[in-house]
Amino acid sequence: MLVLVINAGSSSLKYQLLDTDKSLLIAKGNCERIGIDGIITHKMPGGETIVKNIEMKNHAMATKILVQTLTATCISSMDEISAVGHRIVHGGAYFSQSVIVNEEVLEKLEKCRDIAPLHTGAHIMGIKGCIEVMPDTPQVLVFDTAFHATMPPEAYIYPIPFKMAEKYNIRRYGFHGTSHRYVTSQCLSLLNKPVENTRIITCHLGNGSSVSAVKGGKIIDTSMGFTPLDGLIMGTRCGSIDPAIVTFLMEKLNLTPSEMNNFLNKNCGLSGVSEVSSDCRDLEDAMLKGCRKSELALNILCYQIKKLIGSYTASLNGIDALVFTAGIGENRALLREKICENMDFFGISLDKELNSKTVLQSSNVDISEKGSKVRIFVIPTNEELLIARDTADLVLKS
Ligand code: ADP
Repeated sequence: MLVLVINAGSSSLKYQLLDTDKSLLIAKGNCERIGIDGIITHKMPGGETIVKNIEMKNHAMATKILVQTLTATCISSMDEISAVGHRIVHGGAYFSQSVIVNEEVLEKLEKCRDIAPLHTGAHIMGIKGCIEVMPDTPQVLVFDTAFHATMPPEAYIYPIPFKMAEKYNIRRYGFHGTSHRYVTSQCLSLLNKPVENTRIITCHLGNGSSVSAVKGGKIIDTSMGFTPLDGLIMGTRCGSIDPAIVTFLMEKLNLTPSEMNNFLNKNCGLSGVSEVSSDCRDLEDAMLKGCRKSELALNILCYQIKKLIGSYTASLNGIDALVFTAGIGENRALLREKICENMDFFGISLDKELNSKTVLQSSNVDISEKGSKVRIFVIPTNEELLIARDTADLVLKS
């Protein structure tokens, strides 16, 4: 089945066309500057790339252009696309699994605007744009929060007044769920154990990062929370800090809530500490040239991941596999080495040589040392493939 996967932002629309029977990418691209002027970058797996400036007043127009580009390059008609799968960042308390779009689903999604206004607004524009251009094609929503719905209350309840948490739907939701789910399923197929006995820790480390504890194939805890600001230090996000720092700085700097939100999301993290960059490549380069603040930023990241691995090993009562994925997890061997250093107490033992060679892989690699009690895997994530598979499954069942 051919499935079009859409990831809609406020002024962009990323897409991939996938054949779910063959797990094959047919083409991918990005419509950018929607509502400003418009540019489409369309890539075929053979390497051919088309870049075109073309007016895109709204998401419907961007959808029309991307479908025209697909029909001009790799499919003969729009009818070949059997379904569209949308990546949705926040499903709030309303969605714990993927769903086919109907009026009721759209009404519930509208309610998620309150918690994630920017993302939800963009997603709704993307969905409505696709419905306008492809009214007869089923549309499916796949949520970043869904895989985390199995967390027990002690992991997802924040210690604020219970009634207030209920009234405003404040709880740990967790994000990157599609990625954690994809690498978990890959890891489960690599472990020679009945699924119900498995204990896995998945580290999705990119610009945004999160770590999850997965028991018997189900999430029991994750580091991101009510929003993707919680948990680890990230490129420009602070992650978990003493909440009193927030009010203290608001007073000192005379910031409004939305200015403070912007500050915590954009001016902190690796970039804030290093004063060099939010990108680990730049930080490693700077560190090798003697920049102490870049080294410090990377040390904070590795130390925080270590602490999470330790605490999740306690939550899981042991660990069978540690998984690294996303930009940093898949490519930054030095950081993987730092994270796994002195973890023999947990039975985590890395093959340093194999680890250093494992970058830009398209397949799964076991980087644990022979005899390591814990298997350590680098698994390239593929959120789009999982979205396409969920979409195909739901459409075939409907
Ligand atoms: P996002 O959260 O925006 O999807 P990515 O998963 O692309 O982010 O991760 C971005 C981080 O991963 C950066 O810190 C960057 O240094 C690192 N990274 C991404 N791709 C590569 C690569 N090919 N080689 C080395 N580092 C990479």
